[in-house]
Amino acid sequence: MIEESELRHLRRCVELAAEALAAGDEPFGSVLVDADGSVRAEDRNRIADGDRTRHPEFALARWAAENMTPAERAAATVYTSGEHCPMCAAAHAWVGLRRIVYVSSSAQLTAWLAELGAAAPPVRPLPVNDVAPGIVVEGPVPGLDEEVHALHRRFHSVV
Ligand SMILES: [Zn+2]
Repeated sequence: MIEESELRHLRRCVELAAEALAAGDEPFGSVLVDADGSVRAEDRNRIADGDRTRHPEFALARWAAENMTPAERAAATVYTSGEHCPMCAAAHAWVGLRRIVYVSSSAQLTAWLAELGAAAPPVRPLPVNDVAPGIVVEGPVPGLDEEVHALHRRFHSVV
């Protein structure tokens, strides 16, 4: 269940996605929160320079591996504007992070990209649990997901 107190983290993810969009990157943002509810790190998509692996969820998994103990990672949550792609879901699981809460799902993104006439991604948009069955996953968040939809419409220049 998504607690009321978690909404600020989810809203921050949408803000980070908007920052990414403003910088010419794809609109995705993520926040890493520890068991005490403290934000430990945040990032946004940074693929505009040409490295298409620079997803925020991947960056946060690596940050967690370098800066948190295994016990801390096992109690942490990654909030994200869009459900982890298979690469990021794998990284999340490999470093032993626990929970994921997403604003919008990969299924929603797939439908939105089709509706916008955008190219399908080169990696199949599998749900997180198809890649990493042990991860606790929650989302989407009704209402906030429409804000993410709007960012994708702007990225693909259909406002
Ligand atoms: Zn990813």
